Amino acid sequence: MITIAIANQKGGVGKTTTAINIATAMAAAGWRTLLIDLDPQGNASTGLGVGANDRERSSYELLIDGASIADCAHKTDIPALDVIPATVDLSGAEIELVSVDERTARLANALAGDTTPSYDVCFIDCPPSLGLLTLNALTAADTLLVPLQCEFFALEGLSQLLQTVERVQQRFNANLGIVGVVLTMFDRRNRLTDQVADDVRDCLGGLVFDAVIPRNVRLSEAPSHGLPALIYDHACMGSRAYMTLARELIARLPEERKAA
Ligand code: ADP
Ligand code: MG
Repeated sequence: MITIAIANQKGGVGKTTTAINIATAMAAAGWRTLLIDLDPQGNASTGLGVGANDRERSSYELLIDGASIADCAHKTDIPALDVIPATVDLSGAEIELVSVDERTARLANALAGDTTPSYDVCFIDCPPSLGLLTLNALTAADTLLVPLQCEFFALEGLSQLLQTVERVQQRFNANLGIVGVVLTMFDRRNRLTDQVADDVRDCLGGLVFDAVIPRNVRLSEAPSHGLPALIYDHACMGSRAYMTLARELIARLPEERKAA
């Protein structure tokens, strides 16, 4: 199994939308896929149709109570895609973790305890902060995928994220990689977003995926139906972009970790 954290401490940059749709695309490509919702807002859980009353076992129990992956995983309506949902309890976990042993390794330990993993790939949807929840994700992950919104301040904050990655590499997870940066909410009618995309590519080079996620209203409508955009409207521009991104992501994964 390969574990991919989707992180950026800025809110509203497309982490959850990317997590839901890339996980769906990978499942559709035959990868047994798990999405761990690590944001107390639980938007990834809602977007995959797991209602608020259907979350008795969640990422909170996984981190705090030592529950197992198998205990907390819920099936979704999408074949091969399971989710570990998040509840508001998780906002308390950020504080509870402070006084717990190995507080940054709780998620890594839970994943390591899953000795015969039922999954080929695990995505972690991170909250918009660099607190203990995100540190748990980065400590547990093999690699990091960073959504970057095409806006004027896109690169601001990225250096802070990269510093955090370095710290995690030095102290908790020497093997943490960065699989790529994906530009989101791209609007080709807006010259500024074009300019931002060029600047980001100049700055980060090959780290940036060729696939760009356009601003697309279908992507923002889908969660209110409890469906990934890829199911809600598989032919829309946004869904097609996520399919392209998934292919590019799979091509970037180490050969020995490839499943289907
Ligand atoms: P994050 O998880 O980083 O906070 P979200 O994925 O929740 O970001 O996106 C923030 C908001 O923008 C949501 O309402 C989402 O539906 C919307 N959104 C995300 N990506 C797109 C896109 N490519 N086009 C249009 N709306 C988008
Ligand atoms: Mg989110």
